[in-house]
Amino acid sequence: APAVEVRDLHVRLGGAPILTGVDLTVAAGEWVTVIGPNGAGKSTLLRAVGGLLAAPGAISLFGTPSEALPRRHRARIVATVAQSPVVPAGMSVLDYVLLGRTPYIPPLGRESAADLAAAHDVLGRLDLTGFHARELATLSGGERQRVFLARALAQGATLLLLDEPTSALDIGHQQEVLELVDQLRRENGLTVVATMHDLSIAGEYADRMVLLSEGRVVAAGPPREVLTEDHLARYYRATVKVLNG
Ligand code: ADP
Ligand code: MG
Ligand code: MG
Repeated sequence: APAVEVRDLHVRLGGAPILTGVDLTVAAGEWVTVIGPNGAGKSTLLRAVGGLLAAPGAISLFGTPSEALPRRHRARIVATVAQSPVVPAGMSVLDYVLLGRTPYIPPLGRESAADLAAAHDVLGRLDLTGFHARELATLSGGERQRVFLARALAQGATLLLLDEPTSALDIGHQQEVLELVDQLRRENGLTVVATMHDLSIAGEYADRMVLLSEGRVVAAGPPREVLTEDHLARYYRATVKVLNG
């Protein structure tokens, strides 16, 4: 079964249609990046796939209807990094990353050596060695964004849902983070569904792209077919030349 199957998804919020008839199939091990202008519905789509919005009958994960997945099972297979995660006050980086281990830790605070090792491993791989005792709120935007990703990676899930995971990062860290996710994908067979803001490197890290506009899929396919000047002009009203052929 595909990792993600979305069939004719309709979402209304605040009385308005936000997603209209969205279809999306993501094979296990595939990386699909959803793009589209501000307000197109990218975050809403990711939230629905992650089970944060009810969408009965429209979404299956690994062959199971989303609403039939037990909570803890979902927490083990799906890791989500929201666009603007809440920053809990007074929490250290290590404690935050350990939240990713919650599905495996019966009483909180009783993490095992393996949980700690998983947390320190991802912190190292995200260039955050030495940050573990810092209070999360004191980090720069880019450092914090890497900690959010570290939490998700420490979770050890098979499906990563990343909502603009690099929007606060400099170009070097963008590449580093996307390379790391890609490497983990190849090593561990992860499936990645991301939304991306900066299109300049987005195409290099996606097998396929989906272009959303006003809640509908208007293009889907390999990056070179989606990131066309015509699409950028039409849907982003952008005249800059991006990418990527
Ligand atoms: P994107 O991530 O592509 O920028 P979003 O999915 O965040 O877009 O939002 C899509 C549209 O839905 C936007 O116009 C946004 O204002 C609207 N929207 C999102 N959440 C709600 C809500 N809870 N109530 C009403 N409108 C919402
Ligand atoms: Mg937005
Ligand atoms: Mg968004």
